[in-house]
Amino acid sequence: MRRRRRRPGGHGARPAAGQIRRGGSGLEKYPDFLRDFRGDTVHASTLNLLDQLSLGDRFAALPQQREQRLTMEFDDGAITEDFSRLPGRHQHIALVPQWDFLNLLANAAAESPHFHLAQHAEVIDLLRQGGRVRGVRYTDKDTGRTSELAAPLVVATDGRHSTVRDLLGLRPRSSATPHDCLYVRIPRLPGDPDGTFLRFSATGGLIMINRGDYWQAALLIGKDTAQDALADDGAWTRRAIARLAPYTSERMAAIGAADIAVLQIRSDRLARWWVPGALLIGDAAHAMSPSRAWESTWRCRTPSPRPGSWCPLCGVAG
Ligand SMILES: Cc1cc2nc3c(=O)[nH]c(=O)nc-3n(C[C@H](O)[C@H](O)[C@H](O)COP(=O)(O)OP(=O)(O)OC[C@H]3O[C@@H](n4cnc5c(N)ncnc54)[C@H](O)[C@@H]3O)c2cc1C
Repeated sequence: MRRRRRRPGGHGARPAAGQIRRGGSGLEKYPDFLRDFRGDTVHASTLNLLDQLSLGDRFAALPQQREQRLTMEFDDGAITEDFSRLPGRHQHIALVPQWDFLNLLANAAAESPHFHLAQHAEVIDLLRQGGRVRGVRYTDKDTGRTSELAAPLVVATDGRHSTVRDLLGLRPRSSATPHDCLYVRIPRLPGDPDGTFLRFSATGGLIMINRGDYWQAALLIGKDTAQDALADDGAWTRRAIARLAPYTSERMAAIGAADIAVLQIRSDRLARWWVPGALLIGDAAHAMSPSRAWESTWRCRTPSPRPGSWCPLCGVAG
């Protein structure tokens, strides 16, 4: 007998949408959204969703950079991704610091009389009854007080290290990721390229986002090699970035290991995104690697690593 394939999340998505329309509460463990070294790109499909939520104009008013095309530079040439034929109203990628975007969403949600966002409130346990999740237990981190919040549906959006997922005993399946990533701010000077800078070679990959007076630079490194990359107060990292973007070389002298943030890239996915009374979405259900999008193109373009160079597929020095 053929079994029909279910779309992931299909069981919970419709009840969740109905529940959110009726009202709800959000709990966020930090007091604000000011975390650096997160993704800045807001893609055309998301811009279309913002229009549907009547938030398009407010988003357009945020300070942002727009890219109609992105050029990836390789050792032997370049490839340009052109967004002009994307369907919908938006034929570009917008680059906005993530905290501006999240503040916009939080402020818009706060205008609804049916929604309340509690910040500095950390979910620490689930309320369960009769085989269903019935709500959460959380700590108000300002007062230290623990409270219970009953809910007909708990939607876990608590990210790649999801507490709710752990409490439910759900284990995501991981797929191999060949990279980790180092994030660093590099001063931006007159005469630098204007838009996003993408450079890939057999020795590494670099993505630099224009943040006005500085670049937010992401250097892709081999999996689990961050310790080596940070050794000697970040000298390896400075050299690797300078090789890929020579114009940054001299201005990195003041950057040491303490200025470099390490991101362990993950890619995983739950086989089932729900249990009775709870639905997991976003990174809690499927963590995405920000570098995945570039990898397939990189694979095709990068020659086999020479001895002593670094393989972009397996992250191992040859
Ligand atoms: C370095 C990096 C760059 C990226 N770049 C891009 C990009 O350019 N464009 C793009 O579209 N995507 C990008 N991504 C992916 C994107 O950031 C994630 O897919 C997205 O943020 C997932 O959203 P989320 O709400 O599921 O999880 P998160 O954004 O991780 O949010 C989870 C939230 O839950 C809170 N939380 C955690 N535990 C608890 C708890 N117990 N109680 C209460 N609150 C809790 C956290 O504080 C956090 O605010 C990037 C990811 C990374 C790591």
